[in-house]
Amino acid sequence: MTTMKLLILPGDGIGPEVMAEVRKVIDWFAAFRGLDFAVEEDLVGGAAYDVHGVPLSDATMARAQAADAVLLGACGGPAYDDLDFSVKPERGLLRLRKELDLYANLRPARCFDALADASSLKREVVAGLDLMIVRELTSGMYFGEPRGITELNDGTRVGVNTHRYTTHEIRRVARSAFELAGKRSNRVCSMEKANVMEAGILWREEVTWVHDNEYPDVELSHMYADNGAMQLVRAPKQFDVIVTDNLFGDILSDCAAMLTGSLGMLPSASLGAPMANGRPRALYEPVHGSAPDIAGKALANPIASILSFAMALRYSFDLEAEAEMVEGAVEDVLAQGIRTADLGPAEGGRTVSTGAMGDAIVAALAARDS
Ligand code: NAD
Repeated sequence: MTTMKLLILPGDGIGPEVMAEVRKVIDWFAAFRGLDFAVEEDLVGGAAYDVHGVPLSDATMARAQAADAVLLGACGGPAYDDLDFSVKPERGLLRLRKELDLYANLRPARCFDALADASSLKREVVAGLDLMIVRELTSGMYFGEPRGITELNDGTRVGVNTHRYTTHEIRRVARSAFELAGKRSNRVCSMEKANVMEAGILWREEVTWVHDNEYPDVELSHMYADNGAMQLVRAPKQFDVIVTDNLFGDILSDCAAMLTGSLGMLPSASLGAPMANGRPRALYEPVHGSAPDIAGKALANPIASILSFAMALRYSFDLEAEAEMVEGAVEDVLAQGIRTADLGPAEGGRTVSTGAMGDAIVAALAARDS
């Protein structure tokens, strides 16, 4: 097996706390499953600003370009709120996404059985839920030109954003969705508003083209995004992979995420084009931020970050069995009633610290391996 180059960027707030727990899982796989990781660690966000005066140095960017996968904690915090926009901690993350050209954002919504009662929906609607939203991340409404606020001759102000997609931009994210579906239940639902938007018509045509010419064995369906939002809360288990544009994906992925309960449980991946070694450019990070209200108190839930590492095993390194081991270990720990404070108490269970949750997950990995 070739060496897997990981760059860990813990960042700010609870970032270093949760990434320390990811490190335990990485070390376990290296020690007991013979996985060959080369792990580097560097600064991002406010931590980088404190040392370099910028939220991501050129040297760190170069390390990210050379890595097979970047694992990020979180950026930001009140100490940096008054900084100029150009050096705010979150700009470090945006630079990584932009320069690695990470155009496909993957947000799984998976409901662990032990947490099904924590959802705002009924247990039977969410128990066993396992869907993936693929959101186009680098084009569309948030980037299209022209944009801005102008004033007409009569003094009326006009706000403009442009929802713009090219064939290339649609086809590459569609391919990401079809590839993913091949590793799951082989179904893709594409969401847009082809009934009222030309960009939606193009989206539907191009996704269909990629399907018919390159992935005919994957089941493809189309849905208007407004209906998609309704279906996500009515019957989310009908979906496997959903692919959608930047704007609709922003909204639909937040909606889907909340089906599963706590922010501390939600992983994500952002993928780009394949590198020379065939692996996609990739950044893995929890959905949550730096949680300054609980930073330094050992209260943070490390599961979102550990599940993000499971995504790295699956999508960067094709280690499906190992990814399932991590997810299974999380499931085992939750089933034992072990919870961090954000998940609320379990009947007959215990509430533990960030470090104890990481230890419990490593112990569950060892138990699964024996
Ligand atoms: P947040 O996600 O940091 O926190 C929201 C709430 O959820 C807080 O009450 C927090 O304690 C809780 N929470 C979050 N993650 C948790 C975890 N793992 N375990 C337990 N509880 C958890 O969002 P926010 O408060 O809006 O933002 C705080 C800072 O993080 C800001 O500076 C913001 O810009 C930044 N931020 C960064 C990212 C990122 O790096 N990707 C994402 C969102 C926000």
